[in-house]
Amino acid sequence: GGHPTGQPAGPQPVRGVARILAIASGKGGVGKSTVSSNLAVALARQGRRVGLLDADIYGPSQPRMMGVNQRPASPDGKTIIPLQAHGVTMMSIGLMLKEGEAVIWRGPMLMGALQQMLGQVAWGELDVLIVDLPPGTGDVQLTLCQRTQLTGAIVVSTPQDVALLDARKALHMFETLKTPVLGLIENMSSFVCPNCGHESHIFGHGGVRAEAAKLGLPFLGELPIDLDTRLAGDAGTPVAAGDGPAAAAYARLAAGLVA
Ligand code: ADP
Repeated sequence: GGHPTGQPAGPQPVRGVARILAIASGKGGVGKSTVSSNLAVALARQGRRVGLLDADIYGPSQPRMMGVNQRPASPDGKTIIPLQAHGVTMMSIGLMLKEGEAVIWRGPMLMGALQQMLGQVAWGELDVLIVDLPPGTGDVQLTLCQRTQLTGAIVVSTPQDVALLDARKALHMFETLKTPVLGLIENMSSFVCPNCGHESHIFGHGGVRAEAAKLGLPFLGELPIDLDTRLAGDAGTPVAAGDGPAAAAYARLAAGLVA
């Protein structure tokens, strides 16, 4: 279908990519990037061809979490060759910046960067492309939902009221944009003391499951506060690449997502 401006109307697929899953959150710091990288790695371990696009343009954390820092090559000056890490094909705006450099861009430039990362990166054939969105309900989310045919969005939240409040706004945005919501994940759901085994609910517990039930959306699972998860993310090898309990939890989540 054509449009007078030459822009095709409606959301478009990305060539060679079977499913696009957007990982969203209402606010920052709830573990959206951690969930994105670990789901990507878990899916790759299950034999899927997986891409990870870090669209968190203001706070790209995937280069650190996936342990890559090379600048992607562009032999022809048009196509960008993505990087490979832990079996995942990945691209991040952070790879085009020096670590510690801030992005100070206006909306149209953000849109340009996003379109470039979707359209000019040589993703190849993928079963799944995971998109790590910025937190909140801004231009990047809007453009992605309107221009790109998403399989659906997954909303990550902690059980804390302030996080849930913002998660609701993100859910409302997807509803308005008619982007299917595949489900909700409760991160930092509980904490088990490694010394005494006592379980505490630092940010509360069960709020995301209750919210999902209230909205009639699938609840995909809960992930505890886990030191290994944090250490692995900081070290650039997602915990899902190992064989501890967190890796098992991510493997279950991944298997449920892409059946
Ligand atoms: P967001 O993408 O929502 O801003 P991040 O994924 O960057 O959040 O997570 C914020 C911080 O919390 C990171 O240092 C990350 O390692 C840590 N983190 C995320 N989820 C967990 C968890 N389940 N257990 C422990 N630390 C976590």
